[in-house]
Amino acid sequence: TTTPSTAALTATIDLGAIAHNVGVLRASSGTDVIAVVKADAYGHGAVEVARAALGAGAAELGVAHITEALALRRAGIDAHITSWLHAPSADFAGAVAAGIDIAVSSPRQLDAVVAAARSSGVTATVTVKVDTGLNRSGVAVDEWDSMAVALAKARAEESITMRAAMTHLVRGDEPDHPLNSRQADRLDAAAADLARLGTAPQVVHLANSPAALVRPDLARDLVRPGIALYGRSPLPDRGDFGLIPAMTLTGEISLVKRVTKGQGVSYSHTWTAPHDTVVAVIPAGYADGIPRTMSGRFEVLVNGRRFPAIGRVCMDQFVIDLGPEGGGVAEGDLAELFGRGDRGGVTAADWADATGTIDYEILSAVRGRTARRYV
Ligand code: PLP
Repeated sequence: TTTPSTAALTATIDLGAIAHNVGVLRASSGTDVIAVVKADAYGHGAVEVARAALGAGAAELGVAHITEALALRRAGIDAHITSWLHAPSADFAGAVAAGIDIAVSSPRQLDAVVAAARSSGVTATVTVKVDTGLNRSGVAVDEWDSMAVALAKARAEESITMRAAMTHLVRGDEPDHPLNSRQADRLDAAAADLARLGTAPQVVHLANSPAALVRPDLARDLVRPGIALYGRSPLPDRGDFGLIPAMTLTGEISLVKRVTKGQGVSYSHTWTAPHDTVVAVIPAGYADGIPRTMSGRFEVLVNGRRFPAIGRVCMDQFVIDLGPEGGGVAEGDLAELFGRGDRGGVTAADWADATGTIDYEILSAVRGRTARRYV
């Protein structure tokens, strides 16, 4: 990915926070960590986050697409990388050549990997993604027996090395739900099936962030956290677990101007000045990950004071009300949109609450024209 070096909107990423969060997750789970850096590390920048996480003791990396894994390799990252979501057109040959651990969800995907391995004369590293109830990707129950046999055959022919069996939790955000343990049992049974056929996985993993934080009994050999790595609590009702949010999003104030009582602001004039006031434009909008549904429903922090966003959020800009005296705010001042939530500011979770979504979506929408600054 290319990120502009200067831009109206800047995501400042605290790599020390990423490192700290790896430590929290290792301690809570009592096991090694696969740092999930898919979707450009949930908007934080995959290469930089991967390096920071590995430097802090993460054992491996996990991504969805092979393209994401190959981008990490091109950046010189030689750690173990598992990639688990593939279209039939995916670059299996490239993944095999780059030593990516390819998690397969069907006998068709395994066939494609075996063909890539044969044609390049390299042994492919394979993980089997077992569907234990999510009914999304993962080997379907009715394909499991043929999949286990096909894996054993490919292994016997030395087309593949069997690395792991993995699954993904349906109700990780309800850590005490009995389905979590049932899914772990099903994964263990699948691993035992493979072992009986002489294809025992070397490691087993299923725990996402909430399970890694509060269900060490589900940890198996590795845990696979994403959101907690970025410092967001996946279980806010149970606290922050000492995690530190890594991203602070700031926008530069591009214009300060007066509007008089009764004037409307932004499209459709959904906000009308109740009195003469001073407004400021922040040149970032829904194309930059600020949900339009947040129009008129959030506040930003400028020079330690909160000011309300007014009117519609547009594609490239939104407006804040500085009040009749202008709040001492000048063009070029920085507005904190979200961050750690300390010093009077708001968090990505506050944005998620305001728009009926989850902070995963807020963070991973930070991309494109937004500059990233690493500290
Ligand atoms: N494992 C898989 C297969 C995933 O798809 C994801 C993300 O959705 C994760 C792990 C990390 O999940 P979380 O961010 O909830 O920790």
